[in-house]
Amino acid sequence: MSYKKVSFNTALPDKPRSRVMIIYTGGTFGMATDSQGVLIPFDFSLILEHLPTLRNLFLELTVISFDQPIDSSNVGPPHWQTMAQIIYDNFNEQDGFVILHGTDTMAFTASALSFMLSGLTKPVILTGAQLSISEPRSDARENLITSLEIASAYKNGKALVPEVCIYFDYSLLRGSRTKKVESMHFDAFESGNYPPLAKAGVKIDYNYPAIHQPRNEEKLTLLTKMDSRISILKLFPGINQETVAAILNTPNVRAIVLETFGSGNAPSAKWLIDELKAAIERGIVILNISQCPGGMVIQGKYDTSRALKEIGVIGGADMTSEAAVTKLMILLGQYRSEKIKDLVDQSLAGELSQ
Ligand code: ASP
Repeated sequence: MSYKKVSFNTALPDKPRSRVMIIYTGGTFGMATDSQGVLIPFDFSLILEHLPTLRNLFLELTVISFDQPIDSSNVGPPHWQTMAQIIYDNFNEQDGFVILHGTDTMAFTASALSFMLSGLTKPVILTGAQLSISEPRSDARENLITSLEIASAYKNGKALVPEVCIYFDYSLLRGSRTKKVESMHFDAFESGNYPPLAKAGVKIDYNYPAIHQPRNEEKLTLLTKMDSRISILKLFPGINQETVAAILNTPNVRAIVLETFGSGNAPSAKWLIDELKAAIERGIVILNISQCPGGMVIQGKYDTSRALKEIGVIGGADMTSEAAVTKLMILLGQYRSEKIKDLVDQSLAGELSQ
């Protein structure tokens, strides 16, 4: 993926107080109206012209823009690999990172990066906007400025939020816990099973007990190998055997996210349990994730989840589907099924409660 890079000191003639890299991938955020009134991505290296107030942050900004800014519906593993590699390659020179990204799949990217950047000690903040920066009522300005504040917030030489996060609509959320929940209003993201890491009002209130603190010896490791041969099987009342069998028998599929009801429950039909059991015996990892945005999977709590546990379906606790999908891709890229079964229900990036 090709991209261009420009750096500028917004504090000139003074020294910047911090160095932050902005990675501009596309999405609604960076659209501007052209001479015909059509929304097209603007040249992000001109961000200071759109947002002169950035000068008040006294930062040295390095902007990396994808040559072809994309709608996030087109973002996938190769883009995650590019973003993670850019962060890894520039990690020592920067104090923090802000990724500008379309909102549609931002929760997937945030989850993927949380697993790919293991041992992170600096902030990686994803943000975007519901209205482009060229609109008078846009949320883009506040989202970017506060993200830059958070990405450059340090105390005694340590980053206040050394995590991959999404900042949106005055809330800072753990990346591996977020879901997009709204496409019209500004409050686009939620992390139903984890409290916000910060709330931005007149000042930014950090929720310190909820923020992961790396160990002193923590060192960044980059995991970019991924295998996307996974599928999602979303249960619904009345689902039939043909549909289930078609998904479970997808050629070469290695893992399935089974989206169940409530606390991990599924219809008790014998054919369903038999199909799932046969898939597990073929070596497919099946991970039980609830369709509820809040609460968690507890296999065996109800009779309707006991059989799942007995045949070897793995309970995904309170993981989101976004975290489950990206975690499986990364685990499948590194390990064989047996090791994946050991790791998938462990918290690797704060994505589940144990
Ligand atoms: N479709 C856009 C995207 O995800 C929406 C947005 O940016 O909010 O790229």
